[in-house]
Amino acid sequence: MKALYDLTPFTLLDFPNIPATIFWFAGCNLRCSYCYNPEIVLGSAHIDEETALAFLTKRIGLLEGVVLSGGEATLYPNLLPFCHSIKALGYKIKLDTNAMRPDVLQTLLNESLLDYVALDYKAPSSEMSRICAGGSEYRFWESFYLLQKHAVDFEVRTTFHPDLLNESQIIMMADALLQAGYTRSFYVQLFREGVETLGNLPSSKRIIDYVLLKRYVTLRT
Ligand code: SF4
Repeated sequence: MKALYDLTPFTLLDFPNIPATIFWFAGCNLRCSYCYNPEIVLGSAHIDEETALAFLTKRIGLLEGVVLSGGEATLYPNLLPFCHSIKALGYKIKLDTNAMRPDVLQTLLNESLLDYVALDYKAPSSEMSRICAGGSEYRFWESFYLLQKHAVDFEVRTTFHPDLLNESQIIMMADALLQAGYTRSFYVQLFREGVETLGNLPSSKRIIDYVLLKRYVTLRT
């Protein structure tokens, strides 16, 4: 079955503390205007599971983890058996998810298939549809509480485009996480200027108040 749009053979940056590969799943159930990967979101899968698993078999002992990214991996209909196959080869799995499929997340957690999860917190509910068409803050919290309950290692992250969200809204989101019992880092990754995006966003001219943000969140550039 065709599973992946592409794969990145090696990364030391995307799976905390271990060498990994990234599997890029085609398609997404959201349309975030700042999305850097329009070709993956709008594209289709070229690489089948057998090819991806053969790649992993050859890298046993060299790589330790697989990052399921995209696009949105939880949309892939054969994700559960695919994860079992990856685990059977001895790899750890990290899921990068937009949090909109708590049902799939629950199944993966119930079967102990995930070692790390990066959960997107797109925006406060008042801004969700403007920034990420199809998004639901309710589903974000459902996914969040599942991760809290299962005590899996995870992080919450937000992409910050200064024309779409302001510092007060980011602080409001950090506060909401705190109120929900989240004590880990809340990562805010700054929008990369000069790249093609799904919403054809222009570069922002607004000056970001880094000093203020750093009091509440962990910034990633
Ligand atoms: S940024 Fe948004 S549209 Fe792009 S892959 Fe992530 S969830 Fe999908």
